[in-house]
Amino acid sequence: MSAPSEAIVVESPAAVPHFVYRSVPQRIIFGTGTRQRIADEVRLARIGRAMVVSTEGHAARAREVAGLLGDRCQLCFPGARMHTPVAVTEQAVALATAHGIDGIVAIGGGSPIGLAKAVALRIDAMQIVLPTTYSGSEMTDIVGQTSGGIKQTTRDPRVLPEVVVYDVELTSTLPAVMSVTSGMNAIAHAIEGLYAENTNPMVALMAEEGIRALASALPRVVRALDDAAARADALYGAWLCGTVLQVTSMALHHKLCHVLGGAFDLPHADTHAVLLPHTVAYNAPAVPGAMVRVARALDAPYPAQRLFDLVRDGGAPVSLRELGLPADALERATDLALANPYWNPRSLERDGMRALLDAAWHGRRPEAR
Ligand code: NAD
Repeated sequence: MSAPSEAIVVESPAAVPHFVYRSVPQRIIFGTGTRQRIADEVRLARIGRAMVVSTEGHAARAREVAGLLGDRCQLCFPGARMHTPVAVTEQAVALATAHGIDGIVAIGGGSPIGLAKAVALRIDAMQIVLPTTYSGSEMTDIVGQTSGGIKQTTRDPRVLPEVVVYDVELTSTLPAVMSVTSGMNAIAHAIEGLYAENTNPMVALMAEEGIRALASALPRVVRALDDAAARADALYGAWLCGTVLQVTSMALHHKLCHVLGGAFDLPHADTHAVLLPHTVAYNAPAVPGAMVRVARALDAPYPAQRLFDLVRDGGAPVSLRELGLPADALERATDLALANPYWNPRSLERDGMRALLDAAWHGRRPEAR
C-alpha cells in the first residue's frame, strides 16, 4: 500500500499528543435489508443512468439490485475479477461510455468494488457499493490494478465510493472459511493501523473496537452462518477496520501480502489469514503499546497465537504451503519482501524475514509471548 501523502511526523513534548486525522467524506447506511433502499440512495446521489457491477458468482444478486433501480439502471456487468485486471476495466469503461453511465453500483467483495473504483478513476462516476465480504475496500480511496502480471496500487480521491450500503443479510451467504479469511484481512488493517507511523487516538479507538467485534463474531459465524447478530458484529467490525485502512499507512504485513499475492498469484484473503499471526509475532517486540490494545481486543494474552487459533479453528488454511506456494519459492519471497524498503516499526533483517516466511510456509503456531 502506498503511504497517504499527508503522513506527518511532528516533534512534541512527550506529554502532548500531536497528530493529523483526516475524516472521510462518505455516507454510510448500516442495517439489515438496507439494499431495499438502493433506489432512494441512487436518486439522492443524482444518478440517472447506473451500471451494476459484480462477479459472475453474484450475477443474480446484481440483477436483484438492478430490478430495484428500475429505469435508473442501464445495464449489469458481472465481469469483475480478483486483482482488478485492466482488460476487464477497459471492457466495463467501454460499456459505461456507450450507455452514458453516470453512476456505478457495485455489489460484492473487494473485486467488484475494485472494478467500480477503476471505472470511476477513468470516467469519474459516482459510486454506491454494497459490500458482501469483510475486506474493507469500500472505505478506501485505494485501487490496485493488474496489468501484465504486475499489480499497482493507486490512491486517488475519485476512487472513494460516495455511498456504502452495508446490508447484513448480504453477508449471510459468505462461506465459513471465506468469512474467517476475509475477517482476518480486516483485522490486519486494524492491527497495522494501531502501530502505523501516522496512527492517532481516533484510529486506536476504531481499530481496537473493530478487532474486538470481528474476533468475537467470527467463531459464532463459523458455528452458524445465518447468526444475524454475529454477522452484524462482523460487518460492523469490518467497517471500522476498513476506515483504519483508509486513514493510516500500512507496513510489513500488507506489503508482504501484496508482494507475495502478486508474484505467486496467491488468493488475497487467504494470504492475509496465513501471514497475520507471523507478521504480528515479528513486529510485536517493537510495538508493546499497540500489542496491549490488540490483546485486549482479542481477549487473549498472546495476540499472534490467538490470531493463529482463530484461523485454524475456523477451518481456514494456516500455511503458505496449503495456498500452493512451492518450498523453493521462499528464497525469492524473502528477496521480494526486502526489496523497495518501506517504513515498519521493526527493522527488516534478512534472517528474521526468512524465519517468518518459513514459519508461515509450514503453518507453525507462534510461540506464547
Ligand atoms: P472477492 O470480492 O474477490 O470475492 C471472493 C469470492 O467470494 C468471489 O467469488 C465472490 O463472488 C464471492 N463472494 C463474495 N461475497 C460473497 C457472499 N456474501 N456470499 C457468497 N460468496 C461471496 O473477495 P475480497 O477478499 O473481498 O476482495 C479481494 C480483492 O479486493 C483483492 O483484489 C484485493 O486486492 C482487493 N482489496 C482492496 C482493498 C482496497 O482498499 N483497495 C482492500 C481490501 C481488498
